[in-house]
Amino acid sequence: MNEDRKCPNCGRPIPFDANLCPYCGKKFIESGIKTERTHTSFGIASLVFGVIAFCLLFIPRGFIPYSLMSLYCALNLLIGALAMIFGGFSYWIKKPKDAYGKIGFILGILTVVIGFLQFIIYSSINY
Ligand SMILES: [Zn+2]
Repeated sequence: MNEDRKCPNCGRPIPFDANLCPYCGKKFIESGIKTERTHTSFGIASLVFGVIAFCLLFIPRGFIPYSLMSLYCALNLLIGALAMIFGGFSYWIKKPKDAYGKIGFILGILTVVIGFLQFIIYSSINY
């Protein structure tokens, strides 16, 4: 036990690894560094990419010039894939789990599946 640490609220010596003061019940924010960060940059990036990729699926294909169509589809799939990768990383691998990552991952999967089907249907129509 390290007696050097003192409660910032009541000033009494407290255990070094305490999450709250045993005397006054004050909770310490500085010991919450490893616990209370719910959203990571990967999770937020995943959510943003997922929403963008999913919205791109619903832009009517007639608005897109034919010459740019395959580029557009590839970009749409790429953004969806990034959402999946970032989302999977931030929700299943990185700690703490980021709920944004899960949403981004789901949107990413939907985008890749729907986008791929759209691409197949679109390219078969144009043969
Ligand atoms: Zn205290």
